[in-house]
Amino acid sequence: MAEHGAIFDAMLQEFDGAARLLKLDPGIWRILTHPRRQVVVSCPVQMDNGEIEVFTGYRVQYNITLGPAKGGIRYHPNVSLDEVTALAAWMTWKCAVAHVPFGGAKGGIICDPTKMSRRELEALTRRYVAEIVDLIGPEKDVPAPDVNTNDQIMAWVMDTYSMHVGHTETAVVTGKPVEMGGSLGRREATGRGVMVVTREAAAHLGLNPDTLTIAVQGFGNVGSVSAHLLSQTGAKVVAVTDWKGGVYNKAGLDIDRMLAYAAEHKTIDGFPGGEPLSNDDLFGLDVDVLIPAALENQITAENAPRIRAKILAEGANGPTTPEAQKILHARGVFVVPDILANSGGVTTSYFEWVQDRYGYFWTEAEVNQRLDQKMREAFAAVLATSVKYTTDLRTAAYIVAISRVAAVTKLRGMYA
Ligand code: NAD
Repeated sequence: MAEHGAIFDAMLQEFDGAARLLKLDPGIWRILTHPRRQVVVSCPVQMDNGEIEVFTGYRVQYNITLGPAKGGIRYHPNVSLDEVTALAAWMTWKCAVAHVPFGGAKGGIICDPTKMSRRELEALTRRYVAEIVDLIGPEKDVPAPDVNTNDQIMAWVMDTYSMHVGHTETAVVTGKPVEMGGSLGRREATGRGVMVVTREAAAHLGLNPDTLTIAVQGFGNVGSVSAHLLSQTGAKVVAVTDWKGGVYNKAGLDIDRMLAYAAEHKTIDGFPGGEPLSNDDLFGLDVDVLIPAALENQITAENAPRIRAKILAEGANGPTTPEAQKILHARGVFVVPDILANSGGVTTSYFEWVQDRYGYFWTEAEVNQRLDQKMREAFAAVLATSVKYTTDLRTAAYIVAISRVAAVTKLRGMYA
């Protein structure tokens, strides 16, 4: 591997723990701990001031054993080959847990999109796609949005690819606008999946899923949809925080009103339906469920001992540090890990790809019903594995994922 840094090491730690319990064949172990392809490209862009800047972009296909590689494209100044490779590996395990026929990939460009005009972003996106055009495609690798990329950028990806191959190819990318082959239900899919696994976890623990009390960190796509859908099931969302502040109401927050408030004010800070609450206090609340749906590394060795929730449903990617995980495990908190809890997004991306290739589109109710079923199956498989191996759900999710990829690797055999 060209570069092997701290983020990839963190992925390896999780992988190794599960692989040991699974008694994974050493040869397969070696294969699954190496990225299949790492591509680095230089993307020259003429900026609005006339100068030419050259941006570095990456696309890593970590594993393509189960099907085309799948994973987002991230625009951020801190993007590195190490990060993109680790994220591509995590996508491999997430797709395998979700039981969709995809491998794992990730892409990224080192840039600061907050300082770029729309024209510069479009030019950068198109040049990046042109550089990786032979690598991607509906049968090869299907990008999607990630940090700082959105449906407009996916529309440019789709258009650039289509221009190169000479025909319209909607299935090359997911997370597109619905008008051009995006799926109904995709926007809400990750939060919907969080809602489904939260209810499954509650039922497993003997709690009534219809009367849960819930605290949510983050009120963006994942946090707001999770809060909204759970409140519709009868659960009481008592606390929500975001980057600016938070709100607490013991009797339950009115999430419909909060959505309207957030749309207007771009934050929930100052929402009139409760008392102010800090992020730090959110973690110590006496609730049934805590849903981190903001950033990575929010639950740490410092705040984990104060967490009183019975269930931690990881809407965000990597919200819990390894030290905090140990503390939560020892304290009996039931953690539904990110690669399971937030896999509703990639599952519905799979549905989008299926609909594009079929050329036949499902109703939102059909999408939601299929997602519900996939999420429950994934939860059941991970839970059964955690019982079989007497381990936590995170390790169990890795075991499920690794066994699925390992089984197909063995069946396909070694091509040499
Ligand atoms: P988003 O940008 O829509 O929302 C992020 C939210 O977090 C915002 O409400 C923001 O105010 C809040 N936030 C930021 N900094 C905070 C802080 N310091 N304290 C408290 N809140 C803070 O992002 P999103 O799409 O909802 O993604 C959230 C997480 O879920 C990320 O980890 C992302 O990788 C993960 N995820 C998202 C999807 C998806 O489909 N959107 C899928 C899988 C995983």
